[in-house]
Amino acid sequence: MLQILQPDFFLQNVLQVSTIWLQVRNFHGLILDVDNTFVSRDAQLPSAFYGAWLAKLQAGGTRVILLSNNGGSRAKAIAEATGIPVQTWAIKPFPAAFKQAGMLLGLPRKQILVVGDQLFTDILGAHLAGFKAALVKPLPGTDFILTHGMRTLEKFVFNYWRKTGVPTGWEEDSL
Ligand SMILES: [Mg+2]
Repeated sequence: MLQILQPDFFLQNVLQVSTIWLQVRNFHGLILDVDNTFVSRDAQLPSAFYGAWLAKLQAGGTRVILLSNNGGSRAKAIAEATGIPVQTWAIKPFPAAFKQAGMLLGLPRKQILVVGDQLFTDILGAHLAGFKAALVKPLPGTDFILTHGMRTLEKFVFNYWRKTGVPTGWEEDSL
């Protein structure tokens, strides 16, 4: 059961993902979580640095779609600011929205990477939908109350992995 939660990649930050990084792993598309992966929950829009990172990825030929469990005017503003569609109210980890995002990217599933900051929404949902997934550390910001509970569960999972020798890539520090 826990294996389905296990990220295929552990990254400190989404900025580590470049077109070259993706291409050497045969990924050409990215399904990107929004909150605390690309935009801090406390911010309305991505910082200029993150916006530039995304523009560079696209210029390099990577197809990108944003996938969020939230929506409303903030999601709309993020879509307008980045020029990238945001699939809202995704109900992650249910796989339907991931599959739809994959279809919109128009690439085979094995060529698409999901990147997010939560095991129980982003990683689980990606795996249920048949995608590889990378976990990033959450950006500084306030979590939703529900997310807060999930973080506690994540700690249990990480402790279990550490005890059983599953590499987490983050051995040097704790969540
Ligand atoms: Mg998130």
